[in-house]
Amino acid sequence: MDGSRHAPIGPKTSTVKVAIVGAGMAGLAAARVLVDRGVRVVLFDKGRGVGGRCASRGRDLGGFDHGAQRFSARSQRFASLVHGWAAEGHVVPIRAPRDEETWWLPTPSMNALPVRLAAGLEVRSSTRARALVRRDRAWWLGLEGAPDAGPFDVVVLTPPAPQSLALLAPHGVFVDALETIRLAPCWALTLACDASSATALSDAIFTEDDADPVITLLAREGRKPGRAAEGPLVRLVLYASTAFSTEHLERDAEDVARRLVLALQARDGLEALRVRFAHAHRWRFARVSRALGEPCLFDRSRGLGVAGDGLLGPRIEAAWTSGEAIADAITS
Ligand SMILES: Cc1cc2nc3c(=O)[nH]c(=O)nc-3n(C[C@H](O)[C@H](O)[C@H](O)COP(=O)(O)OP(=O)(O)OC[C@H]3O[C@@H](n4cnc5c(N)ncnc54)[C@H](O)[C@@H]3O)c2cc1C
Repeated sequence: MDGSRHAPIGPKTSTVKVAIVGAGMAGLAAARVLVDRGVRVVLFDKGRGVGGRCASRGRDLGGFDHGAQRFSARSQRFASLVHGWAAEGHVVPIRAPRDEETWWLPTPSMNALPVRLAAGLEVRSSTRARALVRRDRAWWLGLEGAPDAGPFDVVVLTPPAPQSLALLAPHGVFVDALETIRLAPCWALTLACDASSATALSDAIFTEDDADPVITLLAREGRKPGRAAEGPLVRLVLYASTAFSTEHLERDAEDVARRLVLALQARDGLEALRVRFAHAHRWRFARVSRALGEPCLFDRSRGLGVAGDGLLGPRIEAAWTSGEAIADAITS
């Protein structure tokens, strides 16, 4: 992971400047640890805000979590952090329906957690890094629609592996490792329907069916803790199966929304479901199906690092752990 003979970046070396591409959970974890250790950090994200796949939308309708739904905390380091978030009221535990595991739900939305974690950090959102440029023995980020940013001593990439690969390939760094990572797509549907037409829906927050060829998860947003309650409208998030999402990946969102609504209305008792709003979101790189199996990649001599869920697995905890690992590697 780190074969360099260069001097480590110690906690007191505040002149070191790190750019982190991606302000999802991995980027935020790395930034929080680095900043705590006195390192200067700037985060860049092409999205309008922070959080990446820890995403929420549609506040005017009451809110939908259209990316990750909840997370678990299996390692001691992450669990103790999460208990701290719970004590501050940022996350709430619920019992997983299929086993004894505790799931954690940020309130009042999934995206609220990364927004809180980004407080006090220097984040440049709506800023896509299109190139990594080596100039005057430092790194610069070529940005879309903005002047290059830099100089940086270290650049950490946290986008999904194919997007990090596009930036790293010209430099020939970590290419083989990133090419082994696989991600599956997911179409996610946010939907609001008349409550009076939805009485056949399960009362559970989450209804999962991995065997369903089209819809594998249905989440009732108004039943989640800390959300706007259900009124005359029921808010749902549906995940399409990997098979459906792959087959229809390049279709337009309206067409996919229509197909998913029809699949929902094909279920017993939901034939007369009156849909008032439906919007399909394409996650081209949704869930890691093959992870690298290392916490992070770091080349100290070049000042380049990679973190994210592609390193350890398809979970928020894995992304966070990988972010912490790259920060540990940089400062060790
Ligand atoms: C539909 C869906 C359901 C999921 N359900 C769960 C779940 O229930 N539980 C769970 O634990 N996990 C779940 N996950 C997985 C979880 O969301 C991810 O593992 C985790 O959020 C990944 O975090 P990350 O920081 O590694 O990547 P991301 O969240 O993808 O962050 C990467 C960031 O990089 C930015 N970026 C990319 N390219 C560039 C560029 N060139 N320049 C600037 N910025 C760039 C992106 O905008 C993004 O914000 C789900 C994911 C999806 C999509």
